[in-house]
This record gives sequence, C-alpha cells and structure tokens, in this order.
Amino acid sequence: DQIEAPRRIRALHEDVVNKIAAGEIIVAPVHALKELIENAVDAGSTSLEILVKDGGLKLLQITDNGCGINKDDMAIPCERFTTSKLKAFEDLTSIGTYGFRGEALASISHTAHLTVTTKMADSSCAWKAQYAGGKLAPAKPGQSADPKACAGRQGTQITVEDLFYNVPTRRRAFRSASEEYAKIADQVGRYAVHCKGVAFQCKKHGDAGAGIAVPATATVKDRIRIVHSSAIANELIAFELSNAQYGFKTEGLVSNANYSGKRTALLLFINHRSVESNAIKRAVEQTYSTFLPKGGKPFVYLSLEIDPARVDVNVHPTKREVNFLNEEEIIELICDDIRTRLGKVDTSRTFMTQS
Ligand code: ADP
Ligand code: MG
Repeated sequence: DQIEAPRRIRALHEDVVNKIAAGEIIVAPVHALKELIENAVDAGSTSLEILVKDGGLKLLQITDNGCGINKDDMAIPCERFTTSKLKAFEDLTSIGTYGFRGEALASISHTAHLTVTTKMADSSCAWKAQYAGGKLAPAKPGQSADPKACAGRQGTQITVEDLFYNVPTRRRAFRSASEEYAKIADQVGRYAVHCKGVAFQCKKHGDAGAGIAVPATATVKDRIRIVHSSAIANELIAFELSNAQYGFKTEGLVSNANYSGKRTALLLFINHRSVESNAIKRAVEQTYSTFLPKGGKPFVYLSLEIDPARVDVNVHPTKREVNFLNEEEIIELICDDIRTRLGKVDTSRTFMTQS
C-alpha cells in the first residue's frame, strides 16, 4: 500500500484565481452587458448601440459615443483593479459614477475574447486591441499585441465573443439563448428608461425588427411607452420626495389605480445604478394592494439618490444588492408619499364621474 504524501497547502495559480473571481462577477451574459452599459454611460455617451448573438454567449457588442480611452491607457484597462474612477479605498464613500472597482473589463477578458476599439475626440484615428487573461493579446499568433491604428468614430466599441469559452461547465449551464436575451433586453430596458438624454438601441443579430430603440430626446414617459407599453405610459403618476434627515431624494413614475399588471414591474435605481430590492418590492406591493383589484400589480420606476456615505455598494461583487442606512424609514416615507398620491387621483375620479 502506498502512503499518501501529506497534503500541502499551495497557492492557486494566478490565472485560476482570476478565472474564479471573474466567474463570481459575470455569471450570465447580462452581467457583462450591465457593466458595459454602466461604463458607456460613465464615459458621457449620448448613444448606446447593443448587438447580441445567441443570447450574448456568442457575441455581445456595445458601441458608444463617449469620451473614449486614451491610447496610452489601452494596455491596462483589463488588469484587475485598474480604473480611472477611484484612487483609494477612501474614495468609495464619495464615488458618483457607476463603476468603481475596475474589475469588469478584467473579468470579461478572463472568460471571453475581448476586443476594444476606441477613439478620443482629439485623436486622429481610432485604436483597436484584443485582450486575453487581463492582458493585451495578439489578434493572431505571431502578431504584435500592441493596439493598432484604424478608422473609427469618437467613442468606444467593446466586443465580447464566446463568453465562458474556457469554462465549459458554465457554458453548458445555459439552456436557452432566448432566455438570456430576455434578461439582456430587460436590463437594457431599465437603463433606457432611466438614462435621460441617451439614445438606446438593442438588437438581436440577424433580426430584422428594431428590438429596443429609444431616441435621445425621448422623455421618461416616452421611454416607458417604447420599452413597456402605452397601457402603462398613459396611467402614470409622477412623484418626487426628498428628506434631509435621512439624506435622500427620490423621483419616479408609478402607475395609478387604473393600471393593474400581472407582475410587479420595479425599475429601481440607487445612485443611478440598476439594483434589486425585495424590501422595496414588498412594500410597494403592500401599498398598492388597497388600490388594485385582487392580484393586480403596479408598475414602479423609482430613482433613489442617497448620500453615498450612507450606501454600502461594496457588499457583493455583482453589486446587485445594495444596502443603505435607515432603509426601513426611507421605504416607509416613499410608500406614504405614493399612497397619498394614489388617493388623490382616486377622489378626483369619483368626483369627475359624479359631476
Ligand atoms: P470601472 O468602471 O470600475 O472603472 P472597468 O473594468 O469597468 O472598471 O473599466 C476600467 C476602465 O476602462 C474605466 O475606469 C474606464 O477608464 C475605461 N473604460 C471602460 N469602458 C469604457 C468606455 N465605454 N468608454 C470610456 N472608457 C471606458
Ligand atoms: Mg465599470
């Protein structure tokens, strides 16, 4: 019998560590796309064009008209923890932009073929580079990995191909491309409603139809009409609320008592990032329950701005869960306000039908 060698603790190879970290941030194509949308909006873009093939697994491409990336910085944006938006941990409390950890592009480059084409306003040409494992990589074996000059408009185009090509188990876990596309369209739709002044286009490769198409000039109500429906857009109440004690302000559009959906649509933005909150969802459903027929659900678009010092955005690598101070009190104030506005609309209706 062979005696097993005593087990030793060994450090994982850096590549493996990076791949694991990437897998926690990018679980599905929609997570990569969300990061890319946020980057494009951070870059001051007024137009975002998104192209999707096979639910994003074959191709995710996003073209913006933002500030572009400096050619001299092109070697590093895909290394972990490189960012133009944060210099020290202390900055986390005062960060205003969407991104802050510099992990998105790195994660994507560890688990997909990534190409960046970018042009700044004052550059005479665009620059194109490929990345693999967080570093510049040659387009073909034997070629130089340096960025290559090419023609292009101002802005940045990010192309993500063959997502999870090197994680076969993850890749196999996706059964349906249309399911993944639905998640992508949902997320694009959220930003298309929220980002005033920004045009959005989202297309499935090979589809003749327009997909999502929102012009830059569309109002929030128009955006809801385009992304969702007229049935919702025609029955909206605007609301606005701020509170110094808890350091927040909020605005949004919510459906009135004439609209009753099958499922709650909650478009929630905290400090301009699309997030989820079951606590807020439960509270608004409770608020609407007295106004809607049994089982009827509202449409709620809520943009909440909270003093960044009160928000903990650093809890989860995916940034989908956001915690903030006085969460219960803030939710209650918002729901009280919605309840009052719903009540007002109701009485005026009764009054109108009576007269
Ligand atoms: P973060 O957004 O947290 O800084 P990312 O990995 O998402 O980290 O991006 C790294 C850096 O690459 C950004 O800080 C930004 O300087 C640059 N960048 C990424 N996408 C774009 C874009 N669409 N336009 C301009 N710069 C970009
Ligand atoms: Mg980012």
